[in-house]
Amino acid sequence: MPSTTSKPDFYTGLQNNLDALREQGLYKPERVISSRQGATVVCDDGRTLINLCANNYLGLSGDEAMVKASIAATEQYGYGLSSVRFICGTQTVHKQLEQAISSFLGMEDTILYAAAFDANGGVFEPLFDEQDAIISDALNHASIIDGIRLCKAARFRYAHNDMADLEAQLKAAADKRHKVIVTDGVFSMDGTIAQLDKICDLADKYGALVMIDECHASGFMGKTGRGTHEHHNVMGRIDIITGTLGKALGGAMGGFTAARREVIETLRQKSRPYLFSNTLAPSIAGTSLTVLNTLSSSTELRDRLHANTAHFRSEIVKLGFTIKPGTHPIVPVMLFDAPIAQKFAQRLYELGVLATGFFYPVVPMGQARVRVQMSAAHSIEQLDQALAAFAQAGRELGLLKN
Ligand SMILES: *Cc1c(COP(=O)(O)O)cnc(C)c1O
Repeated sequence: MPSTTSKPDFYTGLQNNLDALREQGLYKPERVISSRQGATVVCDDGRTLINLCANNYLGLSGDEAMVKASIAATEQYGYGLSSVRFICGTQTVHKQLEQAISSFLGMEDTILYAAAFDANGGVFEPLFDEQDAIISDALNHASIIDGIRLCKAARFRYAHNDMADLEAQLKAAADKRHKVIVTDGVFSMDGTIAQLDKICDLADKYGALVMIDECHASGFMGKTGRGTHEHHNVMGRIDIITGTLGKALGGAMGGFTAARREVIETLRQKSRPYLFSNTLAPSIAGTSLTVLNTLSSSTELRDRLHANTAHFRSEIVKLGFTIKPGTHPIVPVMLFDAPIAQKFAQRLYELGVLATGFFYPVVPMGQARVRVQMSAAHSIEQLDQALAAFAQAGRELGLLKN
């Protein structure tokens, strides 16, 4: 017999768990912003801060041109559709955006979702079953993990970014019908770029498909910003790409899956977050289309983002900080100790810089850090101001020698 408890115990239990989260320093408070998103933001305490923690890589989130494009799309297509896509929720703007994403990524076709979380949640189950194998990087995004859970395929996990282990898992999955290797194109905690050239070679050797999640890459990785597949020169060798419209590509919300026509057609028939959830708002579809047209005609924003990243990475190291080496606009400034990372982020806030401290269990024990993210919207002056705040906080906390 399960022991029964009274209804008030349910609420008391929740409160106890919340209190425990607070005590363990794992409670996530929400900063309230009263302005648009941008290089700087105004918080509800009235202070203006340089923002170093948005996924606003191309600086489009609060941009005036985006606001205008979204108003224009709303004027033309209305506020919403009150329908899923297949009943009466598909407008010309959705079809145009799907085409624009396909051509931007170099894929045959694209399907839109309300979020990348839904794209990943709805991609595996329609395509793979118990005869198949999904081979997934150990640090893949939560939405990939959840999507895999919803699918009956056999699961194989390879150690993060470890090509020898990936090969071992491909061998272990050898008797499965279809095999698909799944990885984030870029991993958000370290800014690590997946080794897609090697992954594609292994996929060829073992007859596997390759799927990448490009949420931290679409719009700015690679010479013309197409993504990690362009960065690694494997455009045309990736089978499935998922991504978000909620980071570099405008920053509102929305997601997509791009692949061959047969894959996308199957998803339109069978993918549950697509079939049973409302169509992407026309203002977002229209604005995203404007974004992709802009990015296809000029790499200016992408170039500015990478120049800002190079500047910040080299200057922060000159100050004496340790960073995870790399080239991605995610720059983990390593502080190692959890309480120090917390104090450091708090001191940055007081000095006018918004950046997030991460510590165990979000990152491995002893790997606490302040993670910053560059944006094309930052000016060099703003970055230098932020660097000065890092220097001051570093000296005050005894982390820097001079
Ligand atoms: C942000 C993110 C997602 C979720 O994207 P949404 O569009 O916000 O749902 C999925 N995968 C990765 C790797 C991400 O970084």
